[in-house]
Amino acid sequence: MTTETKTASPFGAIRVRGARENNLKNVNVDIPKHALTVFTGVSGSGKSSLVFDTVAAESERLLNETHSAFVQGFLKTPPRPDTDVLEGVTAAITVGQEPMGANPRSTVGTATDVDAMLRALFARLAQPHIGGAQAYSFNVPTVSGAGAITVNKGGRTLASKKTFTQVGGMCPRCEGRGEVSDLDLTAVVDMDKSLNDGAILVPGYKVGGWAVKQYAESGLYPADKLISSFNKRQLETFLYGEATKVKVSDINITVEGLINKIRKSILSKDPESLQPHLKAFIEKAATFAVCDVCGGTRLSEEARHSYIEGKSIADLSGMEVRELADWIDALEDPAVAPLVKNISKTLRSMVHVGLGYLSLSRATGTLSGGEAQRIRMVRHLNSALSDITYIFDEPTTGLHPHDVARMNQLLLDLRDKGNTVLVVEHDPETIALADHVIDMGPGAGSAGGTVIYEGDVEGLKQADTPTGRHLDDSETVKQGNDIRKPQGYIEIRDAHIHNLQHIDVNIPKGVLCAITGVAGSGKSSLIPGSLPRNLDAVIVDQSAIKGSSRSNPATWTGMLEPIRKAFAKENGVKPALFSANSEGACPNCNGAGVIRTELGFMETVTTPCEVCDGRRFDDSVLQYRLGGLNIVETLDLSAQQAAEHFAMEAKIPAARKICEALTAVGLGYLGLGQSLSTLSGGERQRLKLAVHMMDQDSSILVLDEPTTGLHMQDVRALLALMDKLVDSGKSVIVVEHNLAVMAHADWIIDIGPGAGSDGGNVVFEGTPEELVNKTEAGKGTLTGKHLAAHVR
Ligand code: ADP
Ligand code: ADP
Ligand code: ZN
Ligand code: ZN
Repeated sequence: MTTETKTASPFGAIRVRGARENNLKNVNVDIPKHALTVFTGVSGSGKSSLVFDTVAAESERLLNETHSAFVQGFLKTPPRPDTDVLEGVTAAITVGQEPMGANPRSTVGTATDVDAMLRALFARLAQPHIGGAQAYSFNVPTVSGAGAITVNKGGRTLASKKTFTQVGGMCPRCEGRGEVSDLDLTAVVDMDKSLNDGAILVPGYKVGGWAVKQYAESGLYPADKLISSFNKRQLETFLYGEATKVKVSDINITVEGLINKIRKSILSKDPESLQPHLKAFIEKAATFAVCDVCGGTRLSEEARHSYIEGKSIADLSGMEVRELADWIDALEDPAVAPLVKNISKTLRSMVHVGLGYLSLSRATGTLSGGEAQRIRMVRHLNSALSDITYIFDEPTTGLHPHDVARMNQLLLDLRDKGNTVLVVEHDPETIALADHVIDMGPGAGSAGGTVIYEGDVEGLKQADTPTGRHLDDSETVKQGNDIRKPQGYIEIRDAHIHNLQHIDVNIPKGVLCAITGVAGSGKSSLIPGSLPRNLDAVIVDQSAIKGSSRSNPATWTGMLEPIRKAFAKENGVKPALFSANSEGACPNCNGAGVIRTELGFMETVTTPCEVCDGRRFDDSVLQYRLGGLNIVETLDLSAQQAAEHFAMEAKIPAARKICEALTAVGLGYLGLGQSLSTLSGGERQRLKLAVHMMDQDSSILVLDEPTTGLHMQDVRALLALMDKLVDSGKSVIVVEHNLAVMAHADWIIDIGPGAGSDGGNVVFEGTPEELVNKTEAGKGTLTGKHLAAHVR
């Protein structure tokens, strides 16, 4: 259906005509402005292609165009999306699930700006201390003109007046990181080599290059002797020596110990700002420990010993946000009323998005994707901007049905502030709130890419589309003989990491076991956090997949091996020809398909290779065919198409099996040669699942919210797959919020009752049926309440 939309918004619409990114087939839609539009459809139907790759991409491109030509030269200008018309786009902000950077200085407090506001509060609340006590300066960098303001030091007096204007209240030892890093010597120096032999393992230190020469030719130690044979003084000088003047190649330079040098030149930098190879080196070479000076609080001594009503900043940062919100609200000083109001507003929005259990001191690098997205959301909720297009990618990820309602309210609040809100979502409760629904499909990949319904929710319920049919689904819990009997237990004893309250838990083996509970109740702390170490278990989560930028489903699953061999056999040539990382590579781009131009101080620019046109292979390779297709055409197949191709035209059983596994986990639409960097977190997880399914060694599979990114119809398929896995003898433990998964489980372990310090206990263990019965008898849990409401 490609008719003009009937839902007219008085504010006009974002008008899309002829959108063709990825699988989109000339899509025409009008997305009403100042409204909440939910994009639905099975996984791979084209939702992201429309919302992110078309609408958001165009907004970004238009924003770039508003910069001067000079600035534009420095920006990575996204290409114009493949579409005929795209009108009415306002500035778009995408609030996605990418994990937050691992910069150790970044915490929940800094990411939400509450830290800066708290510092301002500490500065303001302490009037110059009555009684002649000496005061400390507090630097408030974000409040313009505030400069150094005095703060009393918890009533105690000191001698000299110190300021920490320069360091902003940060611990000077760890520079506000809370941890100190050091280098693992074995990753920096190969002791069994000489300097002239390449003993220095740091990127950029090549034998013969200047970086190595300054050490090798310094004359301070022998360049041809193994480092392990250096005497104590030589080793000390080489690694930790102070800057010394030496003459190398007739030039006077100063050389300092290698470790000191690396510390200054690499380790002290924000890892996110480093070039990828240096970042990889640091990840390998750096070791971290809690800062011995501030004890991990990140604050200078002065800041640690300044108090408001007996609490230091560190005390407040360690509190759960919901507790802190109450404490802040109780402050009754008119002088700081507006500030208190702002802090309170931010903290309350965190509670509303179900993050009240976090503390401000929590490093953002330890947050899950869903938590990271909700933290980003908090920033926007308090912003005064309007007429923005906000784009969310499954905002209910990581949320228990109990938390979803509050989250949904926030989407409505954003809309009511005069913004246009676009949400890609599968959750029926979120869909129910939409002013407008755009349903993509009907299938995935080439079977999708069209709009199959657009209009209001009532109409969607009547529509004969996969979304319409499943919208009012209710579940049947397993009963009687359908429930599998445990084959022994994984015993967890005295689990107490994070908020777990020294609990003992028996996880049944040989069944489908669901771990449930509200966000922050302690599910991940228990599974996988507290699983016995020597357990033969694979954890299938959404974390990044290791591999080069050239990885794709074919290389990563190992399927390319049998494909190359079959091509070689058929054509009587070497298998290496059929690898874009080897002999078959396009000589211009070396098989990358793109040309990367390093511009020194700026971001690297990538452009498609003009010789192979992004095909990555040398033209001469394309003459060889198998089952009618050349290697490029073969890798262009989707997994589902390839499963047939490898069964019929080109019989490659090993590759066929992997393609079938990809299809079974709902990834049939993925291209075999599609870069892994284009995959979402949920897709990455299912890709890992497909590989582990075939792996006979691991008997226990742990899945962390595997329904992320899945349509209700895809969830059914996933459940069938889990059944197959369990029936083949594996134990499947799944941390889930999805009610269909809970109802389908043989056993439920519910953690709670609340989040953070209110959680951490087992509140129910048993079959789903028992949970529903107990709840109906008034003795249930929050999870039970939602499950009971959802079952027939
Ligand atoms: P959804 O968001 O509905 O799950 P997507 O828009 O991500 O679907 O995907 C639609 C189709 O486009 C799928 O077949 C997918 O494999 C393909 N696709 C998505 N991104 C890319 C990309 N960057 N390159 C090639 N194909 C892609
Ligand atoms: P769930 O998986 O149920 O959402 P978690 O196990 O992630 O809950 O969290 C339980 C509690 O433990 C929360 O209070 C959370 O803030 C805390 N927590 C989780 N991970 C960490 C961590 N890496 N560092 C500190 N606290 C954590
Ligand atoms: Zn410190
Ligand atoms: Zn090329």
